[in-house]
Amino acid sequence: MIEIKDLHKSYKIGKNSLHVLKGINFNVKEGELVAIMGSSGSGKSTLLNILGMLDVADEGTYTLDNFPIKDLDETKAAKYRNKFLGFIFQSFNLINYKSALENVALPLYYQKVPRKERNETALRYLEKVGLADWATHLPSELSGGQKQRIAIARALAAQPKVLLADEPTGALDSTTSYEVMQLIQEINDDGKTILVVTHEDDIAKMCKRVVILKDGVIIEDKFVDQVRASDHV
Ligand code: ATP
Ligand code: MG
Repeated sequence: MIEIKDLHKSYKIGKNSLHVLKGINFNVKEGELVAIMGSSGSGKSTLLNILGMLDVADEGTYTLDNFPIKDLDETKAAKYRNKFLGFIFQSFNLINYKSALENVALPLYYQKVPRKERNETALRYLEKVGLADWATHLPSELSGGQKQRIAIARALAAQPKVLLADEPTGALDSTTSYEVMQLIQEINDDGKTILVVTHEDDIAKMCKRVVILKDGVIIEDKFVDQVRASDHV
């Protein structure tokens, strides 16, 4: 699903340049649930942003679902993003003046799905994350865990091939984090390929594979005995 070879990325800061990714090689197969770990500043978000086509690498190749991601103008990148990728962020990134249902329906609006159909689809995804009763509520009326569920429903509504989650539990307490990861496991059980950036061991253990970044390279990449949410009941 994802193939990256010898990826490099530097940031220019004034006259200086900060070399953040120094040759990343990494493949992800369809249906994997991968945790990306590493200390603060190790380049996790930089890598995820490149995978999400929110940023571009300086060197190296990136292939997503057999499409080479190279020299795309913003229009084309946006089209690929909408088609292939769903994003989940630490701060949820919901639109505050839109209801839960409208937030979930938003990617379908951009895909030009007619209103009736997009509301039906959005409601289906709200049901999937257990929040159908909250459809008309605004984000400000929801808890952090509920907001993240809405954001997950929104990411799923566009039927992406891959979900990219940058610290999806970073703003949540441990019980709520656990519940959100349980939902992520269920979505992965349905076959979705998911990458989760986290610096929490307990979250990483709930994935199937753990990749660790340090000093711009991958220092560890291992399959783990996944802790299932159901093991904890
Ligand atoms: P954290 O765990 O704190 O989120 P991270 O592993 O996600 O860290 P990145 O956000 O990828 O780290 O940042 C890697 C390095 O690149 C950091 O030193 C950061 O300051 C720098 N950096 C990130 N984005 C930019 C930018 N747009 N311009 C300049 N430097 C940047
Ligand atoms: Mg980060």
